[in-house]
Amino acid sequence: MTRRCVICNHAGALELPYWENMCVFCVAYGLNLRLESIRLGIKSVLQTCANCGRPAAYLWVNRLPLCGRCAESAEAEPGGELPAGLQA
Ligand SMILES: [Zn+2]
Ligand SMILES: [Zn+2]
Repeated sequence: MTRRCVICNHAGALELPYWENMCVFCVAYGLNLRLESIRLGIKSVLQTCANCGRPAAYLWVNRLPLCGRCAESAEAEPGGELPAGLQA
């Protein structure tokens, strides 16, 4: 028996746990939408200052994003990001 897609009514619906009764085209479309929303979520996190929540101005590899004010104060504090043993 051929199952039909519940979205577009094409024959050939898959029997996957999450994408039950959807054809491969609608599954691919749904995955794209989910990936896009995840991507936007990550982007908005990366664009927000980790310290005060204002729009971030600076991004570093392996460091949280900061706005201009917080980046300046972080640099102004001597040893702020250094391990305890290296602080003055
Ligand atoms: Zn479909
Ligand atoms: Zn900030």
